[in-house]
Amino acid sequence: MKFSEIPGNTEIKKQLINSVKNNRLSHSQMFLGGGGSSKLPIVLAFTQYINCKNKQNDDSCGICDSCVKYQNLTHPDLHLIFPVLSINNIKKVVSDHFITQWREESLKNPYLDLDMWFDVFSEENKTGKTGYIYTQESEVLHQKLSLKHYESEYRVVIIWLPEKMMLHTSNKFLKLLEEPPKKTLFLLVSENSDLILKTILSRLQITKLVNHSVEEIHSILQNKFPYKSKSEIDASISLSEGNIGRSIEILLTDNFEDDNFEDYQSWMRLCYSVNISEITTWVNQRSNKGRRLQSVFLRYALKMVRNCLIFHFSDPNTLFITEKEKSFLQKFHPFVHEGNIKNITEKLEESVVNIERNANSKILFYELSLQLMKLLKVKRKFVEIN
Ligand SMILES: [Zn+2]
Repeated sequence: MKFSEIPGNTEIKKQLINSVKNNRLSHSQMFLGGGGSSKLPIVLAFTQYINCKNKQNDDSCGICDSCVKYQNLTHPDLHLIFPVLSINNIKKVVSDHFITQWREESLKNPYLDLDMWFDVFSEENKTGKTGYIYTQESEVLHQKLSLKHYESEYRVVIIWLPEKMMLHTSNKFLKLLEEPPKKTLFLLVSENSDLILKTILSRLQITKLVNHSVEEIHSILQNKFPYKSKSEIDASISLSEGNIGRSIEILLTDNFEDDNFEDYQSWMRLCYSVNISEITTWVNQRSNKGRRLQSVFLRYALKMVRNCLIFHFSDPNTLFITEKEKSFLQKFHPFVHEGNIKNITEKLEESVVNIERNANSKILFYELSLQLMKLLKVKRKFVEIN
């Protein structure tokens, strides 16, 4: 990846480039940011620049053999560490075992998060186990770093989501940071530094990345999906509430159409008017769509319900919503309030979990509709303030 593929972050890019030019590279660094930031892309662009054989003034060349290997994440001096799942009775639960899938996923979507990564294994991981960076990982890393560099000046170890290191892994990693091998860079990419040992944090140079503006997210997505229309991209940003990885995931879904809004609008109308026969038709149509789209739809429904509260108590102009969503919510929000939002949200959240665990979607949507019929009739109570 090149720096030019990432909008904004001008100061950070300049500092990173200067640290290479002035030979002041810190050997342990952490890049911290949320789902709306370019933390992994920045690290990938930085490592490519460090080892580029034909550095330009403000970016890597993108065509030398080192750049090409970095673009494919296959450079022999690049080591990738990330959380993995203990599934399929694997003996050595380490990143190398999953490297092909991780490369594929992060090249497709460098904004992916932990859930999206583990979703890749949903077939093998029916019980929804969570993964870690296990102790065996530090043993493998130790062995690798005791070998010589292959071809570049700097060897780079990228640790994606170090907050998932088990305690024992963290302790071993700390030892490496205390006595780092020569010409080796540790670059950590984190979402939550609160879960990382303080003793590790104190040894890292930390760069905080802010979330991109809507315009920047738009340009990232439009560059990645030049064949998608502006309205499709806008809908994906609204659906993911500014989480770039989720937007990419939505746009990658082959038959993604922006029909969530229309579907949600008619569902809510049918539930409110208790129209059982039409609800049955709606449920039948809805449950014919794939599981992935059901989960996207339910997450969308959750977002719309939460947005109702913003209409009651805050400024709707701060929301990531389209014009048609805004005009629907203006009319619909009085039906969702303090008296029922907790129950509605719980029912929807339960359904997201169940649909992702292979529940029967016809039964699930039918039962959910019955619950919503009841809940939408709950009247708002007004408390008089003296
Ligand atoms: Zn190059």
